[in-house]
Amino acid sequence: MTIPTTADPVRDCALCPRLHDFIALWREREPDWHNAPVPTWLAPEGPQSVRLLIVGLAPGLRGANRTGRPFTGDFAGDLLYATLKKYGFAEGEFEARPDDSLRLKATAITNAVRCVPPENKPTAAEINTCRSFLTATIERFENLEAIVTLGKIAHDSTVRALKGRVAAHPFKHNVATEIDGLSITSSYHCSRYNTNTGVLTPEMFEQVFTSVRRRIDG
Ligand code: SF4
Repeated sequence: MTIPTTADPVRDCALCPRLHDFIALWREREPDWHNAPVPTWLAPEGPQSVRLLIVGLAPGLRGANRTGRPFTGDFAGDLLYATLKKYGFAEGEFEARPDDSLRLKATAITNAVRCVPPENKPTAAEINTCRSFLTATIERFENLEAIVTLGKIAHDSTVRALKGRVAAHPFKHNVATEIDGLSITSSYHCSRYNTNTGVLTPEMFEQVFTSVRRRIDG
């Protein structure tokens, strides 16, 4: 297998055949949707401006897979972008459309797996395969200071992308660890399921960004 070195996969990336086939199915069903790997979204000032990277799991079928922008079009974006705005990592209005006025500030958002997986469940092989893009994405941001990982899969893949051992840097909500001077804070994923079941409350999510804001400003 050829190991990709670019930070964003090509539109027809077929390194994960199951995900490639799933997207092909949805291209037939919904030809107007994005239906492709979702690229990293970042502050308009460019990669040099990015100090915070948020790593999610994978695009939601009717969210980022439909709209082409991370966390845009389904519930998870409502809490994420409201919180980012509150802590100065975004500005403008989030209207769940890629052409709204929302802008990231010194921040980028990506996913551990760039293609939508059936049932929101990527396989271990797919997570491992897509990690080359995550590694290249992290390397792209020379002034990166902090990463927030949303959920255990995103956290473990980020630790591995940084060549850390997961056992030494375990996922735990609002706990920060450090690899090569880069701070990594884990959070429960801001999915509708987690917020509906009380696994993650808006207050718990805000505590994560309070810590990260302090770390970046400190
Ligand atoms: S998940 Fe990543 S590696 Fe797999 S097909 Fe999509 S872009 Fe390629």
